[in-house]
Amino acid sequence: MMLDAGAETDVVNSVGRTAAQMAAFVGQHDCVTVINNFFSRARLDYYTKAQGLEKEPKLPPKLAGPLHKIIMSTNLNPVKMVLLVKENPLLASPSALDKCRRVMELICEKCMKQRDMNEVLAMKMHYISCVLAKCVSFLNERDDQLDGLVKSLLKGRDSDGFPVYQEKFIRECVRKFPYCDATLLQQLVRSIAPVSIGNDPTALSVLTQAITGQVGFMDAEFCTTCGDKGAQKRCSICKMVTYCGQACQKLHWFTHKKVCKKLEEQREEHQAQSNQVTGWLTSVTKSPRLCTHLLNLELNISHDSDQLFKKVM
Ligand SMILES: [Zn+2]
Ligand SMILES: [Zn+2]
Repeated sequence: MMLDAGAETDVVNSVGRTAAQMAAFVGQHDCVTVINNFFSRARLDYYTKAQGLEKEPKLPPKLAGPLHKIIMSTNLNPVKMVLLVKENPLLASPSALDKCRRVMELICEKCMKQRDMNEVLAMKMHYISCVLAKCVSFLNERDDQLDGLVKSLLKGRDSDGFPVYQEKFIRECVRKFPYCDATLLQQLVRSIAPVSIGNDPTALSVLTQAITGQVGFMDAEFCTTCGDKGAQKRCSICKMVTYCGQACQKLHWFTHKKVCKKLEEQREEHQAQSNQVTGWLTSVTKSPRLCTHLLNLELNISHDSDQLFKKVM
């Protein structure tokens, strides 16, 4: 509310810290997320007015609303951004997107050149401009209203369903950040570059943590398709992926169907193993003699059961 009323996020307090840094210090991570990602509508509206000798504004006023919605989103999943573009007919044209992309680049530049440099916001603006540029090139090349781009971003590789195109795209966005000396860029590259594609952390999780301050994804389920928080629906077959709703599940099925069966088998195998261990443990705890006996035996159990065994014992 204070932010909407015009509170400045870049201002530092008496100990030289911004509001976001203070919030992080006291452990208010949701608060950090909101502050870091705050960009007032007024700052964007500046571009909807012709400045100086300009005949027309850089950003048509009707685009400010939908673009501001994208800027304020704390979900950096590119699929989510493309879906936001796709759902708005005003935005989903190459010329409109190109204008938005240029404004994002201008704001990025401003963030880097102003006295209180804001690398976080600059990186976010740059990233959005990259996603918008990708939308432009897909709209120019195909007439499928960005369906092809959504599919490319979601398509998983055959072995484990990992979305390789999406990972490579995000890495490329980070690499293309125009200010090579930025500390944030160097941190991101150091975290992302050594990870081989398909391993953790993903480029999206590193970028999200850097920009929104969100640490770990333990407390909520995220939609496998769009990355929205609070996804409740599970694939009824494998139960290994979650979605925010039926639309996202439908979008993902073309690629998930290739690994769903495999994931189901893995889950069942895992389940069977832990059932077996639970069975052993129940009989062990019921019989002290058997317990001693078993402990004296060299048990040939799998790594998973071994872990569980140790934990329970
Ligand atoms: Zn979703
Ligand atoms: Zn499934």
